[in-house]
Amino acid sequence: MVRDYTKTPRAAAAGAGGDGCSSRYDAGPFGAPLRLAMQAPGESCVHLLCLDLEGVLVPEIWIGVAERTGIAELRLTTRDEPDYDKLMRRRIAILAREGLGIADIHAVIGAMDPLPGAREFLDWARERLQVLILSDTFYQFAMPLMRKLGWPTLFCNFLDVDAQGRVVDYHLRQKDGKREAVRGLHGLHFRVIAAGDSYNDTSMLGEADAGILFRPPDNVIREFPQFPVTRSYDELRTEIEAALARIG
Ligand SMILES: [Mg+2]
Repeated sequence: MVRDYTKTPRAAAAGAGGDGCSSRYDAGPFGAPLRLAMQAPGESCVHLLCLDLEGVLVPEIWIGVAERTGIAELRLTTRDEPDYDKLMRRRIAILAREGLGIADIHAVIGAMDPLPGAREFLDWARERLQVLILSDTFYQFAMPLMRKLGWPTLFCNFLDVDAQGRVVDYHLRQKDGKREAVRGLHGLHFRVIAAGDSYNDTSMLGEADAGILFRPPDNVIREFPQFPVTRSYDELRTEIEAALARIG
């Protein structure tokens, strides 16, 4: 079904039809065209967009820390080492060896900005869909960047920092948290579109009703040819619209 953004909510609802799987737009809480899909009489489904953070909306935080501290080993990311626990243990050991604490990392991250165009893309998405950011980063790291993105909802992890400000451990809320989040959202009868750039997003993309890669490395493209590849926010917008049309 072709959606018409120009219809008023009342006109769109009147044209929704009674086939049990038709779609319409309705006014969101702020008057924006919130997307609803009527699954069955009396039952509605709001579409959710789950976005990865680093590489999609903000630069890779650890690469920023590596560049500003001059510690090249901190450049490794999930693009290079798919085993996240191994990667994190190594990062924590490097910070300890170099005597870098949470205050040093805060100073670095505070100077970072979202990727060019990210805020505009996110604002576009939040007018049309409910947006959740699902990230493997840590709340202690992400907050300065969340401020610059207008405080979107973020599900991520947290660091264990001792009284001296040293990072001593990390805590994942659960294993494969991005995928589990999408599973949970399905359990709440949401339909989910997901976008991410790396290995650690592919289970989320596979679990979603539509998964989209954004600026992925070549090895991820090769290993996961089932996901469409986008390289700009315009392409991502187009792919999200196509996914909405496809999943209904
Ligand atoms: Mg990423």
